[in-house]
Order: sequence, then C-alpha cells, then structure tokens
Amino acid sequence: MRPYPINSVSIVIPVYNEEQSLPELLRRTEAACAQLKHRYEIVLVDDGSRDESADMLQAAAEREGSHVVAVILNRNYGQHAAIMAGFEQSIGDLVITLDADLQNPPEEIPRLVEQAELGYDVVGTVRNNRQDSAMRRWPSRLINLAVKRSTGVAMTDYGCMLRAYRRSVVDAMLACRERSTFIPILANSFARHTTEVLVHHAEREHGDSKYSPMKLINLMFDLVTCMTTTPLRLLSIVGMGMATLGVLFAIALIVLRLIYGAAWSGHGNFVLFAVLFVFTGGQFIGMGLLGEYLGRMYSDVRARPRFFIEKVLRSSSATLASPAETIPVSSSVKAVS
Ligand code: UDP
Ligand code: MG
Repeated sequence: MRPYPINSVSIVIPVYNEEQSLPELLRRTEAACAQLKHRYEIVLVDDGSRDESADMLQAAAEREGSHVVAVILNRNYGQHAAIMAGFEQSIGDLVITLDADLQNPPEEIPRLVEQAELGYDVVGTVRNNRQDSAMRRWPSRLINLAVKRSTGVAMTDYGCMLRAYRRSVVDAMLACRERSTFIPILANSFARHTTEVLVHHAEREHGDSKYSPMKLINLMFDLVTCMTTTPLRLLSIVGMGMATLGVLFAIALIVLRLIYGAAWSGHGNFVLFAVLFVFTGGQFIGMGLLGEYLGRMYSDVRARPRFFIEKVLRSSSATLASPAETIPVSSSVKAVS
C-alpha cells in the first residue's frame, strides 16, 4: 500500500428538512475542516426539503469567503441519490460523507483524512457506543458476511455514513448508471484497501429520522440488489432440493409398499405428496432459470464498468509512438465500459 497524497478534501452532506441542525452542522464542520492542512469544500445537497434548509444553504454559499457549495435538487430523491449528486459536484482528492443530523460528529474528519493518506481507498467507521438488540445485530452480521463474499472486502458497520472515499472510488461510483444504490457497499466493490476507525455516535437532537418504514424496506432492497443477484439463484436451489426430496419420497413409498403391502401405504394417498413435491420443485427450478436470465439482464442494463484503470504509468522509452506523439503519463481515472 502506497501513501496517497491529498491536496484537497470535499465533505458531502445530504440535507432533507434539517433546518434546526444546519447552523450547528455548518459551524462544527467548518471548525473541523479548518484544522486540516488541506484545501477543502463543504458540498451540501438539499434533497427537496420542504422547510427553510435550501434557503439556508444558499445563504451559506453566498457568504464572503465561504467554503460551502450548495447543491439544490428539485425534489426528494433519497439520501443516496443526494450523495451521488454531491459526488458529482465535488472536486477533492478525498471525499468524506456524513449525515446532516449531527449523529456523525464532524470532529472526526481529520482522523479519516489521516487514515486515507496512509493509502486506504475507503475509510469506514464503527460506532463505538452502538447498543443494538440481537434483532438488529443478526441481520447486520448477515449483511456483512454477504458483502464480504460479493465484494471481497470486509467491514463491520455499514450503517454509519461518516466515511471517506478516494477520488478514484468516487469516479468509479459515478460511472455506475443504476438508479438505486447503497453507497458504502458500492464503494467497497471498487476498493482494494479498506480500514475502519472507531467513532462516537450521537442521538439525533432535532426532528425525527427521515426514513419511514417503507423507505427503510426500500433501502434494504437497494442494499441487497446493488450487491448481488444471488436471491434469484436461491429459487433454483430451493426447487432442486424440493424435487429431490419428492423423488426420494416416491422411491421410499414404492419400496415400503412392496415390503408391507397396499394397506400400509394408505392406498396410494401418500403418492400425491411425492408428486406434489416433484412438480413444485420443478416450478421453482423454472422460476430460478427465469431469475438467472433476469439477473444477467439486470447486470447488463445497469451497465457497470467492467473494470477501472486507476493509473497508467508509461515511460517514454516504452511507448511505440514517435516522441512527438507521446501521450503524457496520465494519473486520471478512466472508465472502460
Ligand atoms: N436524507 C436525505 N433524503 C432523504 C432522507 C434522508 O437527504 O430522503 C438525509 C438526512 O437529511 C440526513 C441523512 O440523510 O442527513 C440521514 O437521514 P436520517 O438521519 O433521517 O437517517 P437515520 O439516521 O435515521 O438512519
Ligand atoms: Mg440520522
């Protein structure tokens, strides 16, 4: 792992009806960024708020010497879409996301920058005072396991949005054309080195969570589908299991019928179960096959770049072109789809 030189840092914050938190958020984020030795910008994305948030952001951006960039969306698109809009407008070498409700303390920003400078592509955070019930812990363990299998990198906490992504990872995410996505997991699919730092997690001080139960369910599906199409394959596996059971059951019935006679087998009633199992299994296998095609179509439709070149380093002696045509060494990220 090589150290990553950072010249500028962008902070991206999605804002949805957060007028009460905004003044303190701006003050604390500015104070935290002022400690950095890097240039910085604070990109605040208004996600179609119905309160005064958008006006407050514009006022903050218009202030003399302000580091605020206000991005106003025309309606509510959801937290992750808003962050993507912020990514698009950000120009820093390192991009840090956090929530506007001050549950993620902005004071941790310098620590994230420090870690990213060591050469990590993604710096995640773990909430050190997280007190969740077993009901919440198990699903998140399951998700972590699934993410590790599908992206190859492991993290323990995906719920905390205070995270840092280096430019190449952000550009890779921006090149993904799918509409619904879960940013921390998408980022991991483009990261090689990741790390996590322990951070404090505060209670929400103003207002309520902006996630209704319906939006939460939607987010869960975004999380699963952005990472894998395995659930579709599960249909085939369930079907094969059922059909095999049905066949085994039928064989057992025939053998037992031959040994113990017709009276034992309930005059053929159990055969119905065996037939039912085989047919239902067959149906599941059929659905699973449809799912396989659907999954492949989904992958093609969202047209994620097949790979990302982070850098190409070519010495002038290695180029085949004549010196006049030599392409300069490029460190920019290129998407190849
Ligand atoms: N948010 C957003 N659009 C939405 C919902 C939420 O931009 O449709 C923002 C919100 O302003 C906050 C962050 O996303 O900055 C996280 O939202 P919230 O605190 O309500 O989520 P929770 O902490 O309850 O998971
Ligand atoms: Mg919150």
